[in-house]
Amino acid sequence: MSITNSAVIEIANRYGFELVGFSAAEVLVKEGEKLKSWLGNNYNASMDYMHENFEKRIDVNELFPGAVTVISLGMNYYKPYEHTENPGLGKISRYAWGMDYHQVIWKKLDAMILELKAIDSNFDAKGFVDSAPTMDKVWAMKGGLGWMGKNTNVINRYQGSWFFIATLVTNYPFELSTSAADLCGECTACIDACPTNAFIAPYILDANKCISYQTIENKVEIDENLIGKFDNWIFGCDICQDVCPWNIKFATASNEQAFEPRNGEVEINLETVKEMTDEEFKVRFRSSPIKRTKLAGLMRNAEFLQKAGSRPS
Ligand code: SF4
Ligand code: SF4
Repeated sequence: MSITNSAVIEIANRYGFELVGFSAAEVLVKEGEKLKSWLGNNYNASMDYMHENFEKRIDVNELFPGAVTVISLGMNYYKPYEHTENPGLGKISRYAWGMDYHQVIWKKLDAMILELKAIDSNFDAKGFVDSAPTMDKVWAMKGGLGWMGKNTNVINRYQGSWFFIATLVTNYPFELSTSAADLCGECTACIDACPTNAFIAPYILDANKCISYQTIENKVEIDENLIGKFDNWIFGCDICQDVCPWNIKFATASNEQAFEPRNGEVEINLETVKEMTDEEFKVRFRSSPIKRTKLAGLMRNAEFLQKAGSRPS
């Protein structure tokens, strides 16, 4: 029996992916040029790995030979809690409140592939969630999950942008989705709200200035010019998504239990972080995206926030 788009959508929905889109596994020539220009301006900051595997980034056939269709999947992670704005507490980005999404989503992708193979043994696929040099946002746009907002997130008109993107590269022909129109219009709320002016222009982010990069990916001291501009974010930053009208209007709570805030926390006490031992860090952030910074990174962030009262000037 052959696999239909509806069968994929039914299975994906059952695993908690509300958004599903199909695109042809073609070479991403135009997007590759954009990436080159972005890298050429050093907007990737110290994320040198982005220079690597260029051919794989623009051609999924390099990752999965015989690729025919890319299936993009979106999983809502929005939980309706808010940060308290208490200056003694460092804010955690929403995506990192719960369990590490890689662990949650990988299992679901594997299970989906097995179900699809059971329908047609000719089906084969490889699943990715930030796990390979794939341009997942580009595929999500091609598959109609949403458009690339001026804040560089993929926005769905019925759901906003609080969703994880996963990608299944398949050897199977499906009907292709239509890509979504850009509905940002005249809005510039994200650009205006960014406390570090990290947007060089609409749709272009300089990671060097972005709080999310600085608190998670940067492995050295944070640029002193940014003191006082972090708005108390200790891990990531949600400002340019929080102000987006599509999120304000359309965000609805995710049903996924794994994304509930671990220990009920959406913030971390800065003093607690500064006194934490390696062992405490390991236990507290096991299976959490926060483990990525390691204790040294989290401590550096806590100290940085305290340097200038942590509020934007
Ligand atoms: S995540 Fe924060 S710092 Fe980065 S661009 Fe968005 S608002 Fe600016
Ligand atoms: S805040 Fe406005 S400009 Fe920015 S991504 Fe959302 S709709 Fe687009």
